Amino acid sequence: MSKNEPSQPAAPAATDRTPRYSPAEIEPRWQALWDAQPDLYAAEPPTSGKQKYYVLEMLPYPSGQLHMGHVRNYAIGDALARHMWMRGYNVLHPMGWDAFGLPAENAALKNNTPPRDWTLANITAMRGQMKRLGLSYDWQREITTCLPDYYRWNQWFFLKMYERGLAYRKNSKVNWCPQCATVLANEQVVNGCCWRHEETIVEQRELEQWFFRITNYADELLRDLDKLDGWPEKVRTMQRNWIDRSEGALVDFTVVPKDEDRRADRFDPVTLNLTETLLEPAPDREKITVFTTRIDTIYGATSLQLAPEHPLVAQFSTDTPELKKKVRELLEEQRTAKEKGDMAALGKEGVATGRFAVNPFTQEAIPIWVANYVLMDYGTGAVMSVPAHDERDYEFAKKFDLELKIVVLPRHANEGEKGNGEPLVPYTHEDSLLLNSGPFTGLGCQEAQKQMTVFAEQHGFGKASTTFRLKDWGVSRQRYWGTPIPMIYCDKDGLVPVPEDQLPVLLPDSIAITQEGGSPLSRVPEFAQVTCPKCGGMARRETDTMDTFVDSSWYFYRYTDPKNSRAPFDTDTVAYWFPIDQYIGGVEHAILHLIYSRFWTKMMRDLGLVKNDEPVERLFTQGMVIKNGAKMSKSKGNVVSPDDMIASYGADATRMYALFAAPPDRDLDWQEDGVAGISRFLSRVYRFAMQAIPRVIAGRAQPLPSTLNPLERPLMRKLHQTLRRLTQEFDGRWHFNTCIAAIMELVNELTADEKAIASGGVADSVLYAITRNLVLMLQAFAPYLSAELWQQMGEDTPLLRAAWPAYDEALAAEHVLEVPVQINGKLRAVVTVPAGSDGELLRATAEQDPKIQAALAGKEIVKVVLLPGKLVNFVVR
Ligand SMILES: [Zn+2]
Ligand SMILES: [Zn+2]
Repeated sequence: MSKNEPSQPAAPAATDRTPRYSPAEIEPRWQALWDAQPDLYAAEPPTSGKQKYYVLEMLPYPSGQLHMGHVRNYAIGDALARHMWMRGYNVLHPMGWDAFGLPAENAALKNNTPPRDWTLANITAMRGQMKRLGLSYDWQREITTCLPDYYRWNQWFFLKMYERGLAYRKNSKVNWCPQCATVLANEQVVNGCCWRHEETIVEQRELEQWFFRITNYADELLRDLDKLDGWPEKVRTMQRNWIDRSEGALVDFTVVPKDEDRRADRFDPVTLNLTETLLEPAPDREKITVFTTRIDTIYGATSLQLAPEHPLVAQFSTDTPELKKKVRELLEEQRTAKEKGDMAALGKEGVATGRFAVNPFTQEAIPIWVANYVLMDYGTGAVMSVPAHDERDYEFAKKFDLELKIVVLPRHANEGEKGNGEPLVPYTHEDSLLLNSGPFTGLGCQEAQKQMTVFAEQHGFGKASTTFRLKDWGVSRQRYWGTPIPMIYCDKDGLVPVPEDQLPVLLPDSIAITQEGGSPLSRVPEFAQVTCPKCGGMARRETDTMDTFVDSSWYFYRYTDPKNSRAPFDTDTVAYWFPIDQYIGGVEHAILHLIYSRFWTKMMRDLGLVKNDEPVERLFTQGMVIKNGAKMSKSKGNVVSPDDMIASYGADATRMYALFAAPPDRDLDWQEDGVAGISRFLSRVYRFAMQAIPRVIAGRAQPLPSTLNPLERPLMRKLHQTLRRLTQEFDGRWHFNTCIAAIMELVNELTADEKAIASGGVADSVLYAITRNLVLMLQAFAPYLSAELWQQMGEDTPLLRAAWPAYDEALAAEHVLEVPVQINGKLRAVVTVPAGSDGELLRATAEQDPKIQAALAGKEIVKVVLLPGKLVNFVVR
């Protein structure tokens, strides 16, 4: 972007005696001081006895530069971490680098820099930017996933999963991005295109791949979503839809041989007389297995629909070029719809194969079709079509004039009719009764589903089944810059896992990156050729690397014990810190990262490594940073660089603006004027505080006046209202924008009364209380300025460890009354209570007054006369 002229913060009528706010001077000075104290933000050990608080922002990919979205994400986490330190928690606030991945290889091609060098240089640059922002990370726990001390544990986990059958190899159709020249997980295909290359259409290829059996945990991943009430509902919904469980049954239909007349006697419909002989299995015959959630409607099935990629389709169309051609068209239509990400909008098309299959319940032969809306990767790639009781089947049957058989009847008359006596089709309700369904006629739908599933199971042509949309996690990548998969192929022994004591399988430091297809590591003989650990003969290493989502699936556990060289982490340490109390990141990770890491946690629990079922207690997804109504992107030319903002206005103003401009869960439209405004505000704070400092220091040792004067009272009220707002927002919805606005109001009131304050209208102790608390409140949002003022005020506790001030409800109350307090009828003090407060609060407030406390000391209270809002009288002896 074109860098605006640095607009100087408008210095308000500064006199010679008032130093001007200069973030360019203050911030680097403090940054150097903080850098020299590596323990400043260090978490204490689990033995500290303090309650722990683990706050975490998602670790970035080291692209080389922070963007404003990062700044916003980290400013939220940093405000929370600082606040929780002041609340007395043992805070863990680490940062690291998701450092494997494709961009490093692309950069290597472009700039001829080895991926490792490029990545490590980027990390250095971004770490510097984070430090410049004043973020409170415990850098002693920094994790870099591309280094062997981290990725060796990916390999270790892989071996553990392989031992347990959770990592396996199979031939599979894979999503292939021609741009990336690699396989993509289903989750990495967005609207049919690559998640990194929004314009590149993903192709399908057949390859041997490694998979993690995440589907073993599908039920639990789904069920435990109910426990995650600290997560945004939208994220839970996205995960539910992604896992997408449906209960139903698998049923086998027997294919009628091509040369056999489908009207042969044995296939006569005998719908009301199911006998064992008729159900004699025909093992020599082809079967089509369908998955259905409505087996109760199977008597109404009038055709079968196969996915264009179903293996039998190729067989059926071998000698039928016309059919072959039509199937290709259907497949093309399906792919286009998939690419658009909108299967629902696909116009239903299909073709009859000319072949038939026998419905095992009716013994009736029904036609087999191929349809463009049936997907090979969902269920079995085959469905039964029941046009009378399914919307989609009805649409298809209408179009191709297929038979309709009504087999489900509403429980109540008229309910299933259009009003003119004609049946309403399709009738899809399950609260209904079966009709024309042989021995099952008259049963309720749900009861029929149970009985018919059992019947199918008893007769060997079906069984109950649960289907998930969630598929096993394909983790093989034909890439260089990733974790090597620790497996070896031996001609004699087959697949041989790398022995644990030979880990890590080191990624060669520097290889020639080319654009040739296949795994780059396969072209590195020193890597690929290996001695078989079993027979000692020549063998070949697996040359694919792991999906980088493996790295981020468990990184947050490593932060608790980052230097451990014997295990990925210490189980007891993890037990202290986990689950993460607050995780903060973009909603774009709702599916990939957040399902994988939940799976990884459950897998580690089953290995006995962790005790928690879920990694994250509370999740917060911040909104995007946009400019001129669009997401910042190089192609739109609307990128605002954090460095430019810091150079012009300072880190405090930049991060504070990121919190001020919108509630953190909403999108934020970046306006440079707004940053300038925050900078002017901080400069007002600075000027006010610096002028007040001699009196603030004097006021520290003095007690607050027992009765506030008319200038002090509204200022103290505003202070306690602001404290209350911040306390409640940090505990609740995190609307830091309103917190900062409240601090601004307080500062406005202070500066409006500046002359009166300067001429002694406010006691030094009051000025001390207000200024000190102002700095404590600002610390979460503007750490540099706060540190500077804290030091100028001569405070000796570290600011981060200063206790968060409790607000006083009575002082914060909008309308207050002054109530005389008597002892034995004699006026001893006047206390302030909120208007409308009850006798109990009045008495408590009176008892806390220092003068009354002194007067009551050693006396016995005989009676208390309470006239709420008017008077308290302690009768003592
Ligand atoms: Zn791609
Ligand atoms: Zn061998």
